[in-house]
Amino acid sequence: MDDAGETEVPRPLVDSFGRVHRDLRISVTDRCNFRCTYCMPADGLTWLPRDEVLSFEELERVARLLVERHGIRSIRLTGGEPTVRAHLPVLVAKLAALPVDLSLTTNGATLRTVAPELAAAGLRRVNVSLDSLQAERFAALTRRDELHHVLDGIDAAVEAGLAPVKVNVVVVRGVNDDEIVDLAAYGRSRGVIVRFIELMPLDATDAWRNEQVVTQAEILERIGTVFPLEAVARGHEPAERFRYLDGLGEVGVIPSVTRPFCDQCDRLRLTADGQLRSCLFSLDDHDLRAVLRSDAGDDAVSAAIEACVGAKWAGHAINQVQFVRPRRSMSQIGG
Ligand code: SAM
Repeated sequence: MDDAGETEVPRPLVDSFGRVHRDLRISVTDRCNFRCTYCMPADGLTWLPRDEVLSFEELERVARLLVERHGIRSIRLTGGEPTVRAHLPVLVAKLAALPVDLSLTTNGATLRTVAPELAAAGLRRVNVSLDSLQAERFAALTRRDELHHVLDGIDAAVEAGLAPVKVNVVVVRGVNDDEIVDLAAYGRSRGVIVRFIELMPLDATDAWRNEQVVTQAEILERIGTVFPLEAVARGHEPAERFRYLDGLGEVGVIPSVTRPFCDQCDRLRLTADGQLRSCLFSLDDHDLRAVLRSDAGDDAVSAAIEACVGAKWAGHAINQVQFVRPRRSMSQIGG
């Protein structure tokens, strides 16, 4: 794919800090078949009514406009759990017709079944969440006894060619930080890229505490002691990348709390109910669904998108006194 910087588009999305937006996250559902403790409550979340969720046609319209008119170059489908949305491969096929790097973030529980179909529909790559290799701990963390399915799903993604397969690990102090090296070793043995994520204050129950965050520095120290590492130049992705000196692949850290990459952020997010957000931590939604469902044409949709980008702030302020956490949690925004 062309470097987006070299491709002229009619209306590039440049915010007031000069950041050019080229990456879109689409949440296709707020529903999930897991209940990860740092993300969702055990029960009690109210799902969006079906008619409030954007249809595949609406999603395709927004995506096409963002790609053709505004220069979006990568689209990631997420949720909730995107694979619980019925007929997901149909949406994948629609979006794969656009000139984008199309990927999916999933908990992997059903990948063994759906990976071949998603790959055939045009999906390029997947990120799979996996926070523990210990069955009991995995079940406690996700409130689902599904570790074996997730591990099998990761293998299925590799077999289906959804490469590079990345594995996302949210590290929570006192919960799974003793598995950092084991998870790194797992990635090395399977040929998948493990990325450790610093815990963010986006859980549904407002239980996040700074002391639970295991910092990038600590994660790297623990891995580097066993498997020596060197830094790789960072691209536009949120992960800082590190190569194993013995040549057995690489590992990443997403230091959203201690080293946020806000000044490089080129990302927009569309929630399942059609709200456009310029930051995970935005306090305001821009109601794209209302514009899409009005008689207004594409120019009005573009204007709404540009208003959202224009209002983007310099960055979130986790750990600072002015930080206010967003009303919706990760599963409702789309991680
Ligand atoms: N269900 C899919 C999954 O499990 O990957 C996609 C949605 S999930 C919300 C996306 C990512 O957000 C997952 O990797 C998850 O671990 C991460 N996540 C959720 N809550 C988080 C939090 N409080 N801090 C950091 N990452 C979080």
